Amino acid sequence: MEHGHTILRCSNCGTKNRIPVKKLHDGPICGKCRTPLVIEDFDSPVTVTDGTFQREVLFSPIPVLVDCWAPWCGPCQMVAPIIEQLASDYGGRIKIAKLNVDDNPLTASQFNTRSIPTLLVFKNGKLVNRLVGALPKAAIEQHLMSILDKS
Ligand SMILES: [Zn+2]
Repeated sequence: MEHGHTILRCSNCGTKNRIPVKKLHDGPICGKCRTPLVIEDFDSPVTVTDGTFQREVLFSPIPVLVDCWAPWCGPCQMVAPIIEQLASDYGGRIKIAKLNVDDNPLTASQFNTRSIPTLLVFKNGKLVNRLVGALPKAAIEQHLMSILDKS
């Protein structure tokens, strides 16, 4: 488990660069070819589990929005395409993640996601916001913008 560092793969030459988390926002460049490194390619949401939650969410260098959902939940299906859009809109600035609460009961109960859909927002390893219910995209974005403004 690497806390203080993250690995960024160069999109130009493929070199894996080990970057201190503190320098992530200083415009890191590839050590080999000097190409600017992007934090990660988030075209689609990242699936997180009980096993990866700590690494993907709590240790993330950028804020994380976690969509807590289940396959049987109708309103969750309405939120899913919004989550996909947010992933491409905010990729690299906010990590968009999905947690299946049926498959990952430990994390679901830890954050008390009794009613779904629930969107959990984490920043610096702490839960900073909880949005319950199928909200329209604009309402979710409003919360995301306020998180970005504060950073
Ligand atoms: Zn490179």
